[in-house]
Amino acid sequence: NEARQRYIDRNPGSKKLHEEALENLPGGNTRSILHADPFPICLQRGFGNRLVDVDGHEYLDFVGDMTAGVYGHSHPVIQEALISTMREKGLNLGGTSAEENQFASIIRHRIPSIQKLRFCNSGTEANLYALSIARHFTGLSKVIVFEGAYHGGVLTFAHGVAANNVDKQDWILAKYNDVKKVKKLLAENKGRVAAVLVEGMQGAGGCIPGSAEFLHAIQDSAKENGIIFILDEVMTFRLAPGGVQSKILHPQLGIALNPDLTTLGKIIAGGMTIGAFGGRADLLSVYDPRISMVQHSGTFNNNSLAMVIGCKALSIIYTPEICIELNKLGDMFRERLQLLAKEKKMKVTGVGSVCNIHFVRTIAHEICGIEDITVEPGSSETVLKDLLCFHALESGFWISRRGMLSLVIGTTKEETDGFVEMIQRFL
Ligand code: PLP
Repeated sequence: NEARQRYIDRNPGSKKLHEEALENLPGGNTRSILHADPFPICLQRGFGNRLVDVDGHEYLDFVGDMTAGVYGHSHPVIQEALISTMREKGLNLGGTSAEENQFASIIRHRIPSIQKLRFCNSGTEANLYALSIARHFTGLSKVIVFEGAYHGGVLTFAHGVAANNVDKQDWILAKYNDVKKVKKLLAENKGRVAAVLVEGMQGAGGCIPGSAEFLHAIQDSAKENGIIFILDEVMTFRLAPGGVQSKILHPQLGIALNPDLTTLGKIIAGGMTIGAFGGRADLLSVYDPRISMVQHSGTFNNNSLAMVIGCKALSIIYTPEICIELNKLGDMFRERLQLLAKEKKMKVTGVGSVCNIHFVRTIAHEICGIEDITVEPGSSETVLKDLLCFHALESGFWISRRGMLSLVIGTTKEETDGFVEMIQRFL
């Protein structure tokens, strides 16, 4: 109660704006995840890896817009590209452009499993289109997904098939990281299921990495049973130059994952609104207007800002070298946090530059899926997460209530040291 009261007292501007926003927006905002009790901090501006709120507090940004904000808030290359595109090109020309092909080519060369791809406006859309391809191609409608998965607001499986999944009867829910069961499920559903859709690391589900054995078992069983394997890399593309699929090696053969379809979003267009889906050329031909009547449309699909800035973001800023460097820093950061937490019933899961802090009952507790981190509202684990958040914000670190952290380009080793020390004080 003390920490909560201090939070209220320190943030009168955020409190007032939240109360005003309740008049117009359900819950006072437009992204459910950003709500926090008693009210969320209202941000005013960002620069580099820093944020400033409406009450004038400055924070080091360790959330990075839930992984989408890898470039920070005012990268000079993006600023320049934004201004020159507006001035010299125009926003949305309503025709094809050279940059659309250039951007597609950059992505295709980073991810070898993508032979052809198309753009859309969000990760959610990318997944909906990938599912649509699988359904058209196979003539089947059911899809295997995993407990705890997040493939977009209308494709949420955190606690079963959520209320906002429109086609409830079409989902078969499986347990994440359970190799035996998933093999059995795929074999049993041969001829009944269009696709299996999975994240290489369950991101919103708590940054829980999928084991190589599990993900390759899905790929192999999907192939054996004529089921389309869709890997959702909307969050995980940032974890390696070729996406997380390039890092997940077959336990015996040592080869990378090779999904039939991959979905992308978040960081690929330098912070502009974006989604993309791609993969096997025969599957993508579902949307080839020369031979197919199936429509993939979207007014803003190839808008100039996303296409031009996407090319610059991946070729000049988030180059393979920078990507490797940031993820190395992230690995060190996560390992240091975990070491610190050894005796304290705290666990840190994740891959590279993305991780999640969890509080657990016993330190021996393994985290393999969402069931291992699901706690009752008001439980000590939830209270600890709230206290950590209050403590971090007071100490000048921007952190999410759910404990998800992601590093922003430009964050230094010293800044991650500062964060680790802040956690040490908290523990
Ligand atoms: N898939 C994954 C794995 C995600 O993490 C997200 C967003 O957090 C999405 C899909 C949805 O992307 P968007 O928010 O761009 O619709």
